[in-house]
Amino acid sequence: MNFPLPPPVLAALDLLRTAGYPAYLVGGCVRDFLRGCTPHDFDITTAATPAEMKSVFSCCRTVETGLSHGTLTVLIGGMPLEITTYRVDGCYTDHRRPDSVSFTRDLREDLARRDFTVNAMAYHPDEGLIDPFGGREDLRAGIIRAVGDPALRFSEDALRILRAGRFSSGLDFRVGDATAAAVCAAAGTLSAVSAERIREELCKLICGAGASRVIADFSAVIETVLPGAELPVFYSALPASVPLRLFGLLYRSGPGAGGSAADRLRLDRKTRRALLLLFSLQGEACPRTLFAMRRLLSAAGEAGAADYIAFLSASGEKDGKGAEGLLRTALLSPIPYTLRGLAVTGRDLTAHGIPPGPCLGALLSECLTAVMAEEIPNEKEALLGYAGRLMKEKGERPCASV
Ligand code: ATP
Ligand code: MG
Repeated sequence: MNFPLPPPVLAALDLLRTAGYPAYLVGGCVRDFLRGCTPHDFDITTAATPAEMKSVFSCCRTVETGLSHGTLTVLIGGMPLEITTYRVDGCYTDHRRPDSVSFTRDLREDLARRDFTVNAMAYHPDEGLIDPFGGREDLRAGIIRAVGDPALRFSEDALRILRAGRFSSGLDFRVGDATAAAVCAAAGTLSAVSAERIREELCKLICGAGASRVIADFSAVIETVLPGAELPVFYSALPASVPLRLFGLLYRSGPGAGGSAADRLRLDRKTRRALLLLFSLQGEACPRTLFAMRRLLSAAGEAGAADYIAFLSASGEKDGKGAEGLLRTALLSPIPYTLRGLAVTGRDLTAHGIPPGPCLGALLSECLTAVMAEEIPNEKEALLGYAGRLMKEKGERPCASV
């Protein structure tokens, strides 16, 4: 077995080994190599203590990410590598973190503290795979199985309950029977876990290839972290984006559900805004004309409109597919849907004799509407003439009907 390791990874393993410390790749990258996928990052586990690691990598840039837990991030050839001392976790009393951690020189002890068999394998090019818990076999069979007694492992760190769902969803693996039973039994203890840790795992879970199955099988877990979530039949037809998937689970819970979920999960600003926008659009008719599509684009922006149309389409709205086509046409067409794209500005109108004030903004909006409806070309002269006519029509009270 020979995995194609990037040179910085080989260099880190060599530096540690030359200094006399066993070192292996571990966790997700080993799992991904075995599945034939390219890992997105590389974690290294080593017998060297944090002080020994610092001395081995004294020639490199390092970041002390979590040195008290044994983790040092080393930058080699521009690649950040997380290197962690073999570790044994002490007692857990709060379902979250070990009360203490201790370092060990035994790789197997380090692998035993890891959550699932498919994540508890180590690899070194000279030694091949180290797989004391049958991770490779579970990977072949497509099973997520806890290392050791699942109930005990979940009671140590409740986040593992959600992680079981996240790996089951992301890899589209089933959860082994004993592990699944322990997931359901321990669901309530997830409330002890911080919002940030829950968010990271939940967002991966709801976007995974097996998300519908996992959400259905582990509804008690989902209810603990996302109260009110309901799985719609069309869920897996939704694009795998966090705001859309959250909206898909919560849209039947009323308009306040978006804000509550965003607060509870401490969503970042962009995701929160996208989710709330979907809630604000809820009930808007599916655009059937280019004009209606431009109005939607004008109100929601390109990403918001695309999300809403994707939701309508996935949910079986009969005009959804047509709306997807309209969206593409509207985005390709030169006709603007924002004031920024309009061929006249407020300054142009003022220069044309229209007094500054609130009417000006309203007039610009009317110009944009006329351009979006393709009643007036998006050309400066035509728009100045149109604005002038509007002003004349409105006579004494130019703002009245604007
Ligand atoms: P991904 O490719 O999605 O990052 P990963 O397996 O690398 O998957 P991480 O969350 O990055 O997952 O964790 C790295 C490794 O650390 C895991 O493979 C596992 O061995 C171990 N691990 C992480 N979190 C826990 C936990 N809560 N309990 C036990 N082991 C854990
Ligand atoms: Mg990882």
